[in-house]
Order: sequence, then structure tokens, then C-alpha cells
Amino acid sequence: MLPKTWGSRRLKGSVKSNPQKWIKNLIEPATLEAIFCDSKAQLTRGKDQSHLVEIANTVINETDALWADLESEQPNYACHKGCSWCCHQNVSVTWPELLKVLSYILKMKNAKSILSLAKRIKIHSQKVAGKSSNRRFDKKLACVFLKDNRCTIHSARPLQCRGGFSEEEQYCRDLLENRTATQSKIRNRTRIGKYLVAPKMIYNSAQLGLSQALDDENLDGNIYELTAAMKILMEHVKNKSLNEITPDDLAPALLRKSKGEYVTRNF
Ligand code: SF4
Repeated sequence: MLPKTWGSRRLKGSVKSNPQKWIKNLIEPATLEAIFCDSKAQLTRGKDQSHLVEIANTVINETDALWADLESEQPNYACHKGCSWCCHQNVSVTWPELLKVLSYILKMKNAKSILSLAKRIKIHSQKVAGKSSNRRFDKKLACVFLKDNRCTIHSARPLQCRGGFSEEEQYCRDLLENRTATQSKIRNRTRIGKYLVAPKMIYNSAQLGLSQALDDENLDGNIYELTAAMKILMEHVKNKSLNEITPDDLAPALLRKSKGEYVTRNF
């Protein structure tokens, strides 16, 4: 059962009253509540963009530490540097995670390379706009931050990227190179899925806890797609209007359900 201190508005009617949904949505309630409460407490100390980056740092550090504690009890995973089969799908992110990625980019790059990255993100966002993760796999559309099979924002990467582990590299490769047949075998139970469930649950729950805390404080608790949102953010960086950005500006990057899959708007 969830503790009585549970304070989130949106989850009260749906997830809280129906534990089946925790499993279906890969949610681990204790992590969700811990991150929700910690983020709420941190928001009382400040809500501007630099505080939101700090909150993203705390959520990521706490969730990484939790996973580090559990890791030895979980199946071995095959993930390693240079393996990037899974980096070809939509990445869901919250506003603080986006600000963390942006702050990492601004610290690491000079003005010229920031402009060149902004251009690359703009071109890439047109390719991924309106596409589900499945469609991106089929088109082999990698993440804009993937270069030579390495994540160029590795230390600032979002929660969803941190929670992706697989027991078998061939499984991830098959999903990218032969998605329909691989998914069909899993549905028919002639093949077993190899993604690790525990880290997925922990990082999903952390992201939802953060999103709920922002909602509770009447801040932007939306879930966006990484490339689409970064395109909008980089335009605001170029125009020096980052402090004026609103959820309306980011609306085209919202992940919405369409025919059972999450996609962004075409823009
Ligand atoms: S942000 Fe990094 S880890 Fe995440 S999908 Fe992109 S390249 Fe992969």
C-alpha cells in the first residue's frame, strides 16, 4: 500500500487506487513516493531554472544510487561502452532533465559548436517528428546525441536512458534490425524479452515522481520527447530568450498517444 503521506493529485484517482496499474506501467511506488517527496521539499527552496537543474541532479543521483544498491541482485546485463542499439527511439524527459542536458551542453561547448549542434538538432528533429519509437527503430533514426556509437551527453543523460539495460546484446540488435519479427516472437512467447525490469521500474518511477512534484507545485510536469524539446530549447538559446520559455513553447515536443504509441507532433 502507498503511505498516507501520498500527496500527488493526478495519481490519486488512477494509479493509487489500482495497484495493477503499477505493474502495467512498470511503476515502483516506494521510489515514486520518495522522489515525489524529496522533489517537493527541494522545490520549497527555489523554482527557477538553476534550482530545477539541481533537482534533476538530485533525482538522478538518488536513483543511480538506488540502482547501484540493487544491481548485484539483478541478472547480469550485456550493456557496454559503444553498444547503442537501443539509442534509436523516443526518449521521454521532464523539464528539469531538459535543463540539465542544456546546461551540460552550454558548459562543454563553445559558441561555434553550440550553433552547429543547434543546426544538427533542428535537421534531426524534422526526421523524428511525429514518429513513434517503433517507427524510429524501423527507420534506424538514432538519438541526435549519439556519435560513433557513444552518448555525447553521457553524464547528463535522462532518467529513461539510465534505466535501459539488456541481458543480451543480440536481442537489442534484433529489435533494431528486425523489429516486427522480434516483437511478434515475444508476443507469441517463442522468444523472451531481455530488458531488465527492475531498473526500468526504478527510473520510470523516479521520472513520474519528479513530474508529479512539479505538477503539485503548479510547475511544468509535462513529459516531452528529447530531440523535439531540445530543438525548441536551442532556438531559445540562440535568441537569448531561455528565461522566457513557457510550456506553450514546448507543446510541440509533448509526447502524445496515437494509435497506441507515443509520438510528438509533426513540426
Ligand atoms: S541521450 Fe545518450 S543514452 Fe540517451 S538515447 Fe541519446 S545517445 Fe542514447
